[in-house]
Amino acid sequence: RRQAYLAERDRPFETRDGVPVRILMNAGLLMDMGHLEDTGAMGVGLYRTELPFMARPSLPDVATQTVLYQKIRDQAAGRPVVFRTLDVGGDKLLPYWSSDGEDNPAMGWRSIRITLDRPAVLRAQVRALLRASAGADLDMMFPMIATVAEFEQARRLLDVEVARERARGGALPSAIRVGTMLEVPALLYQFPELLRKVDFVSVGSNDLLQFLFATDRGNPRVSSRYDTVSVPVLRLLRQVREQCDAAGKPVTVCGEMAGRPLEAMTLIGLGFRSLSMAAPGIGPVKHMLRSMDFGEVKRYVNALVESSDPNPRRALRAFARDHGI
Ligand code: PEP
Ligand code: MG
Repeated sequence: RRQAYLAERDRPFETRDGVPVRILMNAGLLMDMGHLEDTGAMGVGLYRTELPFMARPSLPDVATQTVLYQKIRDQAAGRPVVFRTLDVGGDKLLPYWSSDGEDNPAMGWRSIRITLDRPAVLRAQVRALLRASAGADLDMMFPMIATVAEFEQARRLLDVEVARERARGGALPSAIRVGTMLEVPALLYQFPELLRKVDFVSVGSNDLLQFLFATDRGNPRVSSRYDTVSVPVLRLLRQVREQCDAAGKPVTVCGEMAGRPLEAMTLIGLGFRSLSMAAPGIGPVKHMLRSMDFGEVKRYVNALVESSDPNPRRALRAFARDHGI
């Protein structure tokens, strides 16, 4: 199998009937970046910036962060990298910021909530990202956004930093694209307004489904109570994709489901053209991609979305098997 993936590495990411799909990698450590080469991924769709923060005894300063982000960009060698701002709290604890024993850390003081309450932290990170991207394109996004106002507040901090860099004569990125993660279900009901403000959307299905089904993503006792390819999920995701398309905003799915072949096939059938996944998923997903016929999968998946099939996974598995996927 590994050999087969390697042999396919330099072939295009497209379906059997020639539909191109962007296959990107999730990363969080500098050493992950080497996998861009061996997987052939087209770039990094999600760079989780929190890991270096977690590995240190205190907050890294702007200079330290700038060097790190520059190294990441160097390793990407011109491929796009989407940097996600600090997403700590919940299951990712910083040794120097206690969560004070919250009853529900996943729904507590975490992620963008922390960095909006501690704007100096977000500003320092943004400053480092701007400096590391001087003269190049910068793609960045904010995690766990729950309201349009939160996105705007974070965006304003970025604008302040851009103005500051400009005033001090620093070189700026040639373009800055700012996106939001879609991880909190409430955003679905503000989606049209949100889409007017963002440059792109990244679906964090791990958190989105955790909150949609009220099912702790880290609790094995309940994690099999819902399925990532069940009808409600398919309906939700199709609507998200349609609304992004209608607004002309690129959308990527970057949660774990994107890295599993059956789920990836389903997402592509729903119309997603960009998936970002952990490196080990890329070979298997590419193999699936190159063996699927987009037209056939699209028809099948869209019929499932309209159905009340209690077990779409079984149906999708059978479909994949019957179609040599
Ligand atoms: C997600 O929630 O789907 C996601 C990609 O973010 P993380 O797994 O880092 O919470
Ligand atoms: Mg998340």
